Amino acid sequence: MPNEDESMTRLLDDDDPPAVQMVRRAGRSAFFLTCDHAGNRLPRALGTLGLPEFERQRHIAWDIGAAGLALRLAEALDAPLVLQPYSRLVIDCNRPPDASSSIASLSELTVIPGNRQVTPAAAEARRREIFQPYHDRIASELDARQGLGRATIMITIHSFTPEFKGEARPWHVGVLYNRDTRLARILLGLLRAEPGLVVGDNQPYSVNDETDYTIPVHAERRGLPHAELEIRQDLIVDESGQMAWAARLAGVFRRAEDQLNRPL
Ligand SMILES: [Zn+2]
Repeated sequence: MPNEDESMTRLLDDDDPPAVQMVRRAGRSAFFLTCDHAGNRLPRALGTLGLPEFERQRHIAWDIGAAGLALRLAEALDAPLVLQPYSRLVIDCNRPPDASSSIASLSELTVIPGNRQVTPAAAEARRREIFQPYHDRIASELDARQGLGRATIMITIHSFTPEFKGEARPWHVGVLYNRDTRLARILLGLLRAEPGLVVGDNQPYSVNDETDYTIPVHAERRGLPHAELEIRQDLIVDESGQMAWAARLAGVFRRAEDQLNRPL
């Protein structure tokens, strides 16, 4: 009776899509992109998490515009991109799985009914079936690149809300980092040289080990030059904004790569 074992609670059905999506795997760029909050999909078994449609469409569920931008950027750079199609409300793929905010029962002011009483076995199933395959895939791709001796510059693409707690956020784009400032410093300089841009230096967030996972675990530990990029949602909500920002960022990234490789 192996199914009696509660630790083997399954989350995803055969009908649910995989917990990791990858495009341009053979991309030739040194840039390696991830989009941790790309999608707002919920596994069928979790229903709606008790949330009305509009809550499942807004920022608490995913990074609006980020996937569209990341896909266009991957194309412009010919860079591999790994995306997480499931909502951060299932499990946040950019939080350590042991953090209390990994499975949020309250996001901003919204109670997430389906997350209020998650059993340890159910939480473990979310980790094992959503979080782990996503990060295993990133790790195995980075291992493969390392094995081939390929240079890798890691960028994670996120988006942020134009307002937070009633306050308008002035930045168009934010460059986030923690211990390793190599690429962040270059990106800050290049973005600030773009006309009319307000650029956040570790704003509206910063990277740390408690609130982030992808950069600390995959980029910092491997010593890869990296940055977490946050773009304001209203700028990339539609296709024209995503195209314009993909073109702008692709140019900035190429120049950043040149600067990074320039001997001191
Ligand atoms: Zn995000």
